[in-house]
Amino acid sequence: MKNEELKNRDLDVLWHPCTQMKDHERLPLIPIKKAHGIYLEDFEGNRYIDAISSWWVNMFGHTNSYINEKVKEQLDTLEHVILAGFTHEQVICLSERLVKLTPDGLQKCFYSDNGSSAVEVALKMSYHAHLNSGEKKPLFVSLTNSYHGETIGALSVGDVELYKDTYEPLLMQTIQTPVPKDMSKESAADAAKEFEILCQNRADEISAIIVEPLIQGAGYMHMYHPHFLVLLREICSQYNIHLIADEVMVGFGRTGELFACEKAGISPDFLVLSKGLTGGYLPLSVVLTSDDIYAKFYCDYNEHKAFLHSHSYTGNALACAAANATLDIFENDDIIEKNRQKAAFMTQQLKKFESLENVAQVRQTGMVCAVELQGYKAEERIGLKVYEYGLKHGVLLRPLGHIVYFMPPYIITEDEIKTMMDVAYSAIKEL
Ligand SMILES: *Cc1c(COP(=O)(O)O)cnc(C)c1O
Repeated sequence: MKNEELKNRDLDVLWHPCTQMKDHERLPLIPIKKAHGIYLEDFEGNRYIDAISSWWVNMFGHTNSYINEKVKEQLDTLEHVILAGFTHEQVICLSERLVKLTPDGLQKCFYSDNGSSAVEVALKMSYHAHLNSGEKKPLFVSLTNSYHGETIGALSVGDVELYKDTYEPLLMQTIQTPVPKDMSKESAADAAKEFEILCQNRADEISAIIVEPLIQGAGYMHMYHPHFLVLLREICSQYNIHLIADEVMVGFGRTGELFACEKAGISPDFLVLSKGLTGGYLPLSVVLTSDDIYAKFYCDYNEHKAFLHSHSYTGNALACAAANATLDIFENDDIIEKNRQKAAFMTQQLKKFESLENVAQVRQTGMVCAVELQGYKAEERIGLKVYEYGLKHGVLLRPLGHIVYFMPPYIITEDEIKTMMDVAYSAIKEL
C-alpha cells in the first residue's frame, strides 16, 4: 500500500538521475524504507543486497553504527561553516590524515562536494598552475572510454558516447589517447607509446592528462595493468604535463590498495577523491596536490594568481566527520587486509561464469568484479533484464549495458557474496 502511494507521489514531482522516466510506466520504482548493513528494505519488507554500494559510494554498510555516532556527535557541535577565512577541526584532521595516507608528494587538500566538481577543480588548477609559470597550455588529454562526471568540463574529458554525444557542441576541445586494450603489460606499453608520440608533437599545448587508475568504471568496467601508470608518470614528468588521477571510484580500497596509484607505486600531481570518502554518507570531494603546485599560486595579492574557485558547501563539517569516521574504520579494522581474503573468495566464485555461453569475459581488480556478456544487441536491453531478475531475487545489480558487475560494501560476508553471485549467475543463464 505504502509502496504504491509513494511511487505515485514520487512520479508526480520527481525527475530521477540517469533514467528514461517513461520506463517507469512499466518498471516499478522502489521506495526504500530503511537500510542496514548491505541490505536495503522496502515498505513491503522485501530486502535487497546492495551489490553496487548504492552507486559505488558505500564502504561499510548502510546506517553503520560507528559512522552514525560520529555524525550525530558532529551534528550537535557544528554542522557547517564558511571555509573561506574560517576553518574547523574535522576538516583539519581529515586533511592531515589524507596527506599521510595518500602517495608521497601530495600535501595540500582543496575541497568540493561531488566528484564532477572536483574534476573541474583539478583541471582548472592544472591549467592555472602552468599559467602562473608563464605557460599557456589550453589542452587536456584523457583516455578513450573514460568517464569523469557529468558537468560540462568533466564531460569534455570523458569519452563514453552514451553520456557525451548529445552535448558535444557545448564541450571544450580535448584529446583522447588510447586506453590499454586489456590487462596485459604489453597493452600498457603500447598505449603509453601512443601517448608519448602525442607529447612529442603537442606537449607545449597540453596542461594535463586525466585518467581513472586501473579501472574505467562507467566505461563498462574496463581494466588495465598498473604498468601503464608507471609509464604515464615518466612521460608526464619528461614533458612537463600534469598527471591527474581521478580516483573518485577506485579510491578507498576498491582495487585492493587504499589508493589505486599505490599499485603502480606512483604519485600523481593531482589526486581526485569522492564517492567512498564519506563511507557513502554525505557529499564531499577533495583534490590533493603538491606543495610545488600550491606555491605557484602563493604570492602577494594579485587577482589573477590566486585560485578563486569556491563551492558553498566546501569542507562541510558533517561530511568531514563522516569521512574521519570512515578512515577510523579503515585503520582500526584492518580493512585492506581483510578485503584481500574477500577478493580471493570472489575470484573463486567468479569462475563459474566463465563456462556460460553468453559470457565473453570475466575480470576482476581487487573488490571490483565484472562479467561481460556477448551475443546481444543494445536494443535488447539485457542489462535491464538482469536488473529486474536481481530485484525479484533480492539483489540490487545495475549492469552497465552488457556488463554485469559487483562492487559490494566491504562488510559483505562470504555467504552473502555467494548469494549475490548465484543470483547474477541464474539471471545470466536465463537470458
Ligand atoms: C562517479 C565518478 C565521477 C563523478 O562523481 P559525481 O559525484 O557523480 O559527480 C567522476 N569520476 C569518476 C571516475 C567517477 O566514477
